[in-house]
Amino acid sequence: MIKENIEAINRSKDEIAEKTGRKAGDVLLVAVTKTRNADEINEAIEAGITDIGENKVQEILDKFEDVSPVRWHMIGHLQSNKVKYIIDKVSMIHSVDSLKLAQEIDRRAGRHGTTMDILVQVNAARETSKFGITAEETGKLIQNILEHCPNIKIRGLMCIAPFEDDPEDVRIYFREVKGLYDKYASHTHPGLDFQYLSMGMSHDYEAAILEGSNLIRVGTAIFGERNYNKQV
Ligand SMILES: *Cc1c(COP(=O)(O)O)cnc(C)c1O
Repeated sequence: MIKENIEAINRSKDEIAEKTGRKAGDVLLVAVTKTRNADEINEAIEAGITDIGENKVQEILDKFEDVSPVRWHMIGHLQSNKVKYIIDKVSMIHSVDSLKLAQEIDRRAGRHGTTMDILVQVNAARETSKFGITAEETGKLIQNILEHCPNIKIRGLMCIAPFEDDPEDVRIYFREVKGLYDKYASHTHPGLDFQYLSMGMSHDYEAAILEGSNLIRVGTAIFGERNYNKQV
């Protein structure tokens, strides 16, 4: 089923992209592989997945050796003291929401002689249960990262919308983050190259693409419901 699910999502995302005046292929599908084992992930890669997302450092470390070559995305909350474990493994960190975290990423990237691509996580609905900064704080954090973190490239924004039964109801948040994204996409600075707007999950990716997302993070719709008790 993994292959069929991926094909269905690819068709759907391309269709919506075209409907909104973009090209098919403009929206990157990141397969979210938390709780999934290496065999399942490799099956997805065989079906054409080029990018996978994990939300826990430990899962990245556990699976890294057994998964076929692919780009890894850190999409979950990241503690500064764990940056060192993944700095040489992930292509992009989606969940940067403090200068402290950015500075640790910068320091570790510098030691490895690389720059790290990051997204700033915006909590548009101001949900207290979620990480991310408010829309108002975004400019300040971006400024601070540009000033203090030469080994970071800010590639865009990420947001997790609140869960609503009807995804139409969260389009307003996606729209707000797209507005912010457009504002910085036109800035020029060596530390900033906006190209990714990471919004939309299994339940709401269609609404997110309609509002301008070009990177969707999809788990359940590819692999089925997660069982968090299962040992990976
Ligand atoms: C789990 C997760 C997803 C994917 O969620 P699904 O509903 O399974 O598609 C996307 N983004 C983040 C940050 C996640 O933790």
